[in-house]
Amino acid sequence: MLTETQPSVQRNDFAATFDRQRRHAPQMALTTASERIERIRRIQRWVVAHQADIEQAMYDDFRKPPAEVMMGELMALNGEIRHTIRHLKRWMKPQRVPTPISLIGTTSRIVHEPKGNVLIISPWNYPFVLSIRPLVSALAAGNVVIIKPSELTPNTAGLISRMIAELFPADEVTVFEGDATVSTALLELPFNHIFFTGSPAVGRIVMAAAAKHLASVTLELGGKSPAIVDESANLGQAAGQLAWGKCLNNGQTCIAPDYLLVHESVKAPFVEALRNAMVSMYSPDGKPVEASDSYARIVNSNHFRRVKALFDDALAKGATVALCGQMNEADNFIAPTLLETVTDEMRVMQEEIFGPILPILTYRTLDDALRTINQREKPLALYIHSRDRQRTQYIIDRTSAGDTVVNDTLLQFGNVELPFGGVNNSGLGKSNGFYSFQEFSNQRGIVKRLFGTLRPIYPPYTNRVEKT
Ligand code: NAD
Repeated sequence: MLTETQPSVQRNDFAATFDRQRRHAPQMALTTASERIERIRRIQRWVVAHQADIEQAMYDDFRKPPAEVMMGELMALNGEIRHTIRHLKRWMKPQRVPTPISLIGTTSRIVHEPKGNVLIISPWNYPFVLSIRPLVSALAAGNVVIIKPSELTPNTAGLISRMIAELFPADEVTVFEGDATVSTALLELPFNHIFFTGSPAVGRIVMAAAAKHLASVTLELGGKSPAIVDESANLGQAAGQLAWGKCLNNGQTCIAPDYLLVHESVKAPFVEALRNAMVSMYSPDGKPVEASDSYARIVNSNHFRRVKALFDDALAKGATVALCGQMNEADNFIAPTLLETVTDEMRVMQEEIFGPILPILTYRTLDDALRTINQREKPLALYIHSRDRQRTQYIIDRTSAGDTVVNDTLLQFGNVELPFGGVNNSGLGKSNGFYSFQEFSNQRGIVKRLFGTLRPIYPPYTNRVEKT
């Protein structure tokens, strides 16, 4: 943490490390695919050897269940690593492109060169994978990297520091732990690319700081991701998927369904199915949710109070509770909570909830539902639960979202062949596989003349015009 007493020491540290990395960057740029793959394998081996430590760190940070660390962090990271190792040689190969007749005698190709000095700023909700996945892509593209993990998950941040110190010299990859003051100081440095994952509010600060150096940015942000359940949906299946998608990581997932739009004709059976699904997942045999070892906690008391304030505000403005909602501040515990009779005036419909509270709205016509979605910022994810293909397409054609899943939730993060990310308020740029590699690369066009010249078009133009 950058404390009041030693900011200049730390700042000098940042600048000195940055300069060392900048001097080393040209060497990194010359690394072959095999050398980059060797670096990525170091990470892969370390993760396998320290799986228990990684699970423990996140359990200590906010009781993230080991099974959720496995699914949401380690499997996703391993998928990215394997995909990158398999395809990196091809991604790095110069790509020939067609030449127009006007440029006859030349060839054209695209090469991916590293951007250079890269800063990765990551959030606390998936603190390991959201730091290390972009690192894998940054190394694949041949960059030098500084990582600033979130201060809200200090055990995981400490483990990331340890891992990086064991695996890489500081002029290749370094971690600076700490809070916003550390990011603020780092953002003063002239990075070539900044990969930020976090809230739209801080995303704006990062982009403004990047503008000073015209650094390129990838912004993986959040927002309110809607889920539509129409009258043709398989209600039982949709209920299970949405219950899991909402409660995984205690609702602290950037692509969690934030609110539901349910066709009025199926609302009653659907809410019943959703309630049953949540109870059977987190309160089997009538045991209290608090005793479940499958249920994480809100990350800290500030966020606990923030989510509770959203809930209190909704109740004060007339929302009703369809599944309650026990809370225990001493443990940052909030049980799965369903809210009905929700209106736009409530804060739960204005802010990203980022907790296990799910507002349920109903709609009569599909266009009403689309209006509710389209009057808000473009979401990171849109979920559609429907067995009607035409209606599904109708929704896709009339909305915009970072990614969309039909008849399930959260799966978009798991397919490295798909670009993952938001649009405008929910993010800029995409990650996953080749898309991440591209974010960390400058696509450089190279034209090479093999024969002839463009002499016929050289000036003076008047002569040329007179001659013709
Ligand atoms: P956050 O924006 O508060 O913090 C993210 C990072 O930015 C942290 O490392 C933090 O220390 C740093 N930071 C905070 N304030 C800063 C400032 N003023 N200047 C510079 N840096 C600052 O986000 P969070 O609370 O850690 O994470 C939750 C948010 O992240 C949610 O909005 C969620 O939707 C989003 N998110 C998005 C994705 C995605 O892939 N799109 C993934 C996870 C989380």
